[in-house]
Parts: sequence; structure tokens; C-alpha cells
Amino acid sequence: MSAVHRALQDHFGFDKFRSQQQEDAVKAVLKGDRDVFVCMPTGAGKSLCYQLPALLASGITLVISPLIALIQDQVEHLKALNVPARSINSKLPLAERRQILADLESESPRLKLLYITPEMVASPSFQPCLGSLCSRGLLAYLAVDEAHCVSQWGHDFRPDYLKLGDLRSRLQGVPCVALTATAPKRVQEDIERSLKLRSPLVFATPVFRKNLKYDVIFRDLLPDPYVHLLAFAKEALGGNTAEKGCGIVYCRTRESCEEVAHKLTKLGVSAKPYHAGLKVGDRTESQADWMADKVPVIVATISFGMGVDKANVRFVVHWNLAKSLASYYQESGRAGRDGLPSSCRIYYSPKDRDQLNFLIRKEIARKQEKRGSEKEQDKAPILDFEAMVAFCEQEGCRHATISQFFGNQKPNCAGACDYCRDPKLVRAQLARAAALSTRTGPAQSSGPRGPFGFDPELYAGGRKGYGFERYDEEWGSDEDDSEKRKKEFGNLFKKQMNLRKGSDMAKETFVPPDDDCVLKDAASQRIPKLTVKSREHCLSLLQECLSSHRAAAELSHSCEALDQAVEIEHEIFRASKSANLYKAAVLKRVSEMKKSAAASVPEEKQCESTEASATCSSSSQPEHLGGFTSASQVYSREV
Ligand code: ADP
Ligand code: MG
Ligand code: ZN
Repeated sequence: MSAVHRALQDHFGFDKFRSQQQEDAVKAVLKGDRDVFVCMPTGAGKSLCYQLPALLASGITLVISPLIALIQDQVEHLKALNVPARSINSKLPLAERRQILADLESESPRLKLLYITPEMVASPSFQPCLGSLCSRGLLAYLAVDEAHCVSQWGHDFRPDYLKLGDLRSRLQGVPCVALTATAPKRVQEDIERSLKLRSPLVFATPVFRKNLKYDVIFRDLLPDPYVHLLAFAKEALGGNTAEKGCGIVYCRTRESCEEVAHKLTKLGVSAKPYHAGLKVGDRTESQADWMADKVPVIVATISFGMGVDKANVRFVVHWNLAKSLASYYQESGRAGRDGLPSSCRIYYSPKDRDQLNFLIRKEIARKQEKRGSEKEQDKAPILDFEAMVAFCEQEGCRHATISQFFGNQKPNCAGACDYCRDPKLVRAQLARAAALSTRTGPAQSSGPRGPFGFDPELYAGGRKGYGFERYDEEWGSDEDDSEKRKKEFGNLFKKQMNLRKGSDMAKETFVPPDDDCVLKDAASQRIPKLTVKSREHCLSLLQECLSSHRAAAELSHSCEALDQAVEIEHEIFRASKSANLYKAAVLKRVSEMKKSAAASVPEEKQCESTEASATCSSSSQPEHLGGFTSASQVYSREV
């Protein structure tokens, strides 16, 4: 057995390396003649790539890590393995700090790994120690963990990471190991440049995983999305085969977690919700049951999955869009860890896209307001989100889109995505979605952005008008269509009723808003008995109204419709004294907007707009809403 393998076993208790990449990276670092760049998914075992060499080298390895909590975790783990590792940080008791510094000053320090934050590395108090280690040639390696923090394009850019470039220059001759999870190409380039890596050896897990099947389904085109999801889950779980599999459905809000889990269970595949709104006990139980294969499906917000490494995940569904293509790759990548065929699906909806777009921009605006200036890095989340949208709206191989985003070559998909399996089907779906959105959505205009609020070139390849021609072929006559929409509204209404029955009616206590609630003053309990849920419902009435009628033609993006709806809702909220007056005012405003829209809409459009008003308010006759008593009666039943 080689020395490396023996060390792997003796110090870490592992019989073998996790992967070829891990083994190769460890050996390259050990050799010590080149800088090394490790790009592997979370959980792939990147730490070992510097920890093992650190143990075998003479001298000390300086490990830079962004958060004290992460550091403490690692150090505890290493201590438990009897590896001499410590950290110097601001939270350390003085006595312990002195002890560590004394060891580092001694002739032959016992310490092998010293963990430290980038701030500490740059702090004046640490300089004497660093200088002394350096001049005595005691530094074996410089390891920069979570190296994407150096990039303005990274999702958690840390200005202090930029200072590591200077550190690097001071440590001439000390090989550098940079580690990050699979990162977009532009982030990788930043890392290489900022850390001044000299033609590093790169060890990266290939992005393409051929056992994963990707596809995108436009949710708004489905008569019943839950039934569709059910069929998918059943198929992916392999019917009644003995081999037990499981699945994850990711949702953006707690409410939809509850709803999807409830629906799936009712339809025959048992599912449990997992989100931050649950009592800790319930949440742990959901996870435990799922881990133990007692419940096949977990319906979770993205907080679920950190550190979850389950081999037999047969499917990952995104009921709502992920916030970036990188997160999507990571989240969907929890499927098929055992190498067996597995499926990743997005149930895509433009409305969902607009909401997320809104939230992302709101978050950026909030940050800018706080710091009082715009920065280059503010664009990163938008670009990453646009890549996610393009993934859904583009005609092209899904695997290729992902691989190229991460700077890999175009892979041989061989039918492992919906586009490669049947491009015509993907094209037809896009056309149907475009037609639906032109009919009901905000963009009548042919502005720079298409009916998706996205550059049409990106998904329709410039075939203008294509969507309309296909629309009728696919959907039959208009009559069917209006029938279908009536039914859809009926379902929607029922759904809302059931939701209220289940939750709101029962409890009186104020339920605080989700973190990503778009309402202004969302946490305000100024108006008694007015729940966040009711306000969100009213907001969606206003939003739908704004984006479905003429006035919206000027709104280049329905994200702006939401923006405007938020303002109107807030204005009404501030001016209202009671929950009933608030609701009445919202309905009145909706009806006014309907009226003014109807007045300016040509004949043909008018019937459509009336139809749309059915989803916007509780009455399909705008006049009726003038005296809003009956409407608010309906409403108070509903909310
Ligand atoms: P990353 O930094 O890539 O997210 P970590 O270094 O934290 O991953 O490792 C993830 C887990 O994998 C840890 O629990 C670690 O102990 C384990 N691990 C690492 N290498 C091996 C190996 N060769 N065999 C088994 N488990 C390993
Ligand atoms: Mg790590
Ligand atoms: Zn493909």
C-alpha cells in the first residue's frame, strides 16, 4: 500500500478515495510543484485534497475559509481525528490564542493545519506570526477554500478575499490550492486571476452526468399540474418495483410546500413538507422519514438538502424556478447519486419567473440602498437568473446549456434531455406557451422583449409569428379553450377555498410573513385580523389585473406590474382601518381598473378581458362591483 493510501486510512479512516479526481488532486498537491485548482460539487470531499497533503508535508498549511462557523466545524472534525488543527479567530479565548501563537513561534511547531478567515490574515495582529512562518520557510501550502468568494460574479462575494492576491504575492514558492464547488466559467476565471494561480493543474468533476434526464414542462399549459406531477413521480419511482427510490420536490414558498405535499399524498404518493415554518420536531420527522424511505417524497424549500447525501433519489422536481442555473444544477444534482437513471424536471411558469425576477431585483435594490451605491457585482444574480430562464425558454440541449455555463465542452447528451429526445415537442410547447402568454399576459406590444419578457431570439430562433400559427393546431377551436379556462378558474377558486378552510379559519394568531414576502410592511399587524395571506391574495388580484389589461401594455415587463401592485396594495393598507375596509378598497380598486381597461379595449379584446376579470375578482361583472357589498361577501367567504 502506498504512503498516501496508508495515510488516508490511518488519519481519516477511509479505505479508498472518493473519486479519481480526489485521488489525482491529492497526489498533485503532494507533489507540490504546481498550483492546483479543485472544482468539485459540494460533498465531493474537497477538504481532503489539502488536509491529507498537509499531514504528509513538513510545515504548516494555512487554510483560508470565509466563515468562523465553517472553520470551527472543520477544526472540530479534525481534532476528533487527532489531527493537529487549530484556528485563530476573533472568537477565540485569549489563553488559547497565546498557546497557538507560542507553538507557531517554536522551532518545530506541532500544528499541521491553521484555519483562518481572510480578515484575520490581513489584520495587523497576525502579521508578525505570518512573517515569521514565512521567513523560516515553515509554510507548506496555502489552501483557499470556498474560493468563489473571490469573484464579484460569485454568489457570496467577500471583498476580503481580494486581499488574498497580496498574500499570495508574499508567499512566493508556497504552492496554492484553490477549492470551490462547480462554478460558472466566469467565476473560475476570476479565481485564477485574483489568486494569481500560475497555470494551475485543474481537477474538476465533469459537469455532465449522463444518468440524469432533464426536461422542462410549462405548468400553465397543464389542465391539472398535480396530476401531471403525480404521474411523473410514480413513473420515476418505478411503480411497484421492489427497489425503493425517493424524490424531492422543491418549492419556493412554505405554502406551496404544504399544498404540493398535501395534493400528492391525497392522489396516492405519500409526501411530507419540509420548510422553515414547521416546528423543529415536525421538520426533523419529515427528513428522518424520508431518509429512512418511510415517505418517498419530500416537498421542501431550498433550505433542504444542505448536507443531505442520499443515493437513491430518483427524481428532483422544481415546482418553482431556481434562482440561478448554478443553484439549479446543484439542487437537481441531488438526483441519481448512485449512478442509476434519474429525472430532473422543472415545472416552469412565466408568472413564477416574473415573481422571482422581481424578488431578485428587489434584493439588489435593497443592498444598493443600504450601501448607497451600485456595484458591478449587483449584476451577477441577474445574469445567473437569466441563464436559468434561458435554460427553460431556449430550444437546445439542456445538458449542453449546463455544461457550457460551467465552461465544459458540449457533452454527448444522447437523448438524456427533452430537446434531444424530441426537439419538435419542445418547440411546440414553447409556441403554445407564447400563445397563451400573448392572450392573457401583459405584453401585447412587440417591444424589445417578447411575450415571455425575454428576448424572443433566445427561444424562437427568430421565427416570428410562429406561436400563433401553432396555437390553433395544438388546441383546437377557441371554444375548447374558453371551456378549459373556465374550468381552470373553477379549480383555482376551489383550491383557494380549501386552502383557507384548512388554515386561516382555524387560527386567529398572526402568522409572520415568509422571508421572501414581497409586501411592504409585511410584518405589520396594524390592522386586526388582516393576515399576511389575505394581503398576498389581494396583491395577486391587483397584480393579475394590472398585467392582464390594456394599461399594462406600457409595462415592458410584468415584473413592473408586480412592483406597481405592491405600491397600490401598500397605499390601501396604510389607508385602511379594518380588514373589511381594506378588502373592500382592494376590490374597488380592481373594479375601477377593470372599468377603465374595458372602456379602452376594442370589441374583440373585451370579452377576453371580462374573462380575465373572473380570475381578478370574485365577480365577472365589473359594474356589479361598484357597490362592493356582494363582492366582499364572496370575498369574506373566500379569505
Ligand atoms: P466538500 O468540501 O467538497 O463539500 P468535504 O470535504 O466537506 O466536501 O467532504 C464531504 C464528506 O465526504 C465529509 O464527510 C468527508 O469526511 C467525506 N469524505 C471525503 N473523502 C472521502 C473518502 N475518500 N471516502 C469517504 N468519505 C470521504
Ligand atoms: Mg468544503
Ligand atoms: Zn440534450
